[in-house]
Amino acid sequence: MIKAVRGTRDLLPPETALWNFVEATVRDVFRAYNFHEIRTPIFESTQLFSRSVGEETDIVSKEMYTFLDPTPHELLEGYLALKEGREPSGKLLPMDILLGSQSVTLRPENTAGVVRAYIEHKLWERGLNKLYYIGPQFRRERPQKGRYRQFSQIGAEVIGPASAGSESPARDAEILELLATLLDRLGIETWTLQLNSVGCPNDRAAYNEALRKALEPVVGQMCSDCQRRAVTNPLRVFDCKVPADQPIIDKLPRISEFLDGPCRRHFEQVQEILKSVGVEFQLNDRLVRGLDYYSRTAFEFTHGALGAQNAILGGGRYDGLSESLGGPSAPGIGFAIGEDRLVLALKESAEAVQRKPDVYIAPLGEGMNKEAARLARELRRHDVVADLGDETFRLKKSFETASKLGARFILIVGENEVKADAFALKTLESGEQVSVPRAELAQRIQSGH
Ligand code: AMP
Repeated sequence: MIKAVRGTRDLLPPETALWNFVEATVRDVFRAYNFHEIRTPIFESTQLFSRSVGEETDIVSKEMYTFLDPTPHELLEGYLALKEGREPSGKLLPMDILLGSQSVTLRPENTAGVVRAYIEHKLWERGLNKLYYIGPQFRRERPQKGRYRQFSQIGAEVIGPASAGSESPARDAEILELLATLLDRLGIETWTLQLNSVGCPNDRAAYNEALRKALEPVVGQMCSDCQRRAVTNPLRVFDCKVPADQPIIDKLPRISEFLDGPCRRHFEQVQEILKSVGVEFQLNDRLVRGLDYYSRTAFEFTHGALGAQNAILGGGRYDGLSESLGGPSAPGIGFAIGEDRLVLALKESAEAVQRKPDVYIAPLGEGMNKEAARLARELRRHDVVADLGDETFRLKKSFETASKLGARFILIVGENEVKADAFALKTLESGEQVSVPRAELAQRIQSGH
């Protein structure tokens, strides 16, 4: 038997109803904040991610699905042609294909793609852009509950020139307030907002230096990942999940002591607005986030019921990202919600969200399928959710199917009913049955009794 690939899964009903409910709610909330949807490709040039997310991150160093665009056959032919000093047959292969610059990667996150599109389509000409996306992301992580190799993120970015206000602490606060509203609207009650500022590149250089010094005498007792991070990018030490390393990490210097005046003020203003709108938060100066491009505000929302993988969403400011990708200065802030985890947190309500059929139409006897189809068409046009049986089914089987589907009514379509143009409508729960003229059916079914 062929099964879904490890780390991927099928989303089946009734859970899909919950996904639709989440996405519809999210779209509603985004509309109220004047965000618009963007859809970027699922694969991009590998360079986009190595340059924006950062070579040293776990995502880029170990988790990306990367492949060369030419097929192995094309590559081999190109290689042989070059070696033998002749023109390659078939598709001409320039040298750079052989050197791997045609390498593509399934997106592990969506911010890089959005910022690439911002630069490519000169979106700054519109001033401040408030964009959101919903879609699959791919990371080759060890699968476990709440962690998949294909997962979906709902995210948003506010990006634009500083003159349009993109740098303002008001943007950070607006994003955080939007998220609080969204989680409340979805009925997720027990969330916690963890908030930090990771400063600007200058602050981080000084902080990295301090971390490096503090790590020197102790790094020998830490895990091999931390030993590598201590040399390449000490800030990443905070990503470490090894329990034995935590007491050492706890004693390291804190980023909050290294913020310069403007960063400190920016962070204070974000907090002031949050207090003014009544969004609660916890300061957490160990929160540095896994990606290289963050500056100033960094945040995470966690949810108690999710266990080890308790981060539902993360985000922050990335003021230098556009420039690092060759674009103009475009300060921005964004977040990505793990949709799988959001749905996991809502799972108990899955049944409630699923719309059951209002009516199960049971054609009874030869020639009745066409009559039932006509009725179904009329009812569905009136927004009745209808499901259909088959004229070969005995009445008993139709009743069983209707109850299994959770239909409210069963509608019997037999020869006598067709002649009278009035149909037997039975409420499954009470067993009450009435004869209803065709013209009154839709209204009767919609009224629910
Ligand atoms: P990140 O892009 O790493 O900041 O992640 C943002 C959010 O995406 C996290 O808080 C998770 O909810 C979700 N997420 C990240 N990786 C995975 C994964 N492998 N499976 C499911 N959700 C994930």
